[in-house]
Amino acid sequence: MRLKLLSIAIFTTLLLVGSTPAQSRALLNRAQSVTGDTFTVSVKTPKGANIYAVSKPSSAMLKSVDKGLTDLFAVARKNNYRSRLNYSDYSIFIARSDRTKDSQGNYSPDIAVGAAQYAGSIYDQGGFIYAAGMVIAYTPCAFVIAEHTKDLNRVSDVVRYEGEHLVLYHNDRQRYLDTADHSKGGGHPILQ
Ligand SMILES: [Zn+2]
Repeated sequence: MRLKLLSIAIFTTLLLVGSTPAQSRALLNRAQSVTGDTFTVSVKTPKGANIYAVSKPSSAMLKSVDKGLTDLFAVARKNNYRSRLNYSDYSIFIARSDRTKDSQGNYSPDIAVGAAQYAGSIYDQGGFIYAAGMVIAYTPCAFVIAEHTKDLNRVSDVVRYEGEHLVLYHNDRQRYLDTADHSKGGGHPILQ
């Protein structure tokens, strides 16, 4: 059975150009306000992606993030996209999950976020939605996912899917706009 996996992009464009301490702090504040979590751990994946987490991620978790980015970059190149295909371009926030099982009882660590444009859609839980991941900034490329203790393939999938929004934003703005909002249908993978 195909898992319903909601990964979303925010619609208030947050531009944080560069990487001064003040800009890093703005990104951190944004991640903390979206999730309600405090990200006290800062590490890099073996391939150089930036990780901010609520607790120290396992090496298997970090490798799964890298695998998601590797898959993303491969499919992006197939589509002739060239911008933002470096591991170090990405900042990934690993938040505490707000649920670990979906409505069918399947393992599905997700974060709860305000419903916004998803209000009234099939995803609406009463003012909020459960998302597998969420883009929180475009420059630098940043998104939030939930902590996983198993099913790490799902981590790779969520990373790849969130990354699709970011790659499209930087390489094909019209296609980004056409695919960013899943509230009226459409999902992942976008890139084939
Ligand atoms: Zn999405």
